[in-house]
Amino acid sequence: MSHGDGDHERFAHYVQKDKIMASALDGTPVVALCGKVWVPGRDPKKYPVCPMCKEIYDSMGPGGDKGKGDKDK
Ligand SMILES: [Zn+2]
Repeated sequence: MSHGDGDHERFAHYVQKDKIMASALDGTPVVALCGKVWVPGRDPKKYPVCPMCKEIYDSMGPGGDKGKGDKDK
C-alpha cells in the first residue's frame, strides 16, 4: 500500500495519547497540535518531530503529564 505519502508524513506530530489509542483501535484519524489530521500507524520514532507541533507543545509549558526533563515520547 503506497499511494503518495506526502512530505507531511515525514514528521512525527504531537497528538493526545488517548486519541492515538482510540485511533489504533478503530482507525479514525487524529488531529495533531499543528492541525494536521491523519491516521497514525507507522512508528513515529523514525521521524523528526514536527517543528510546528513542537513549538505549540513547548508554548503550552509544563503541566502536562510527567513531562519534567523527560523528553522522550
Ligand atoms: Zn505537526
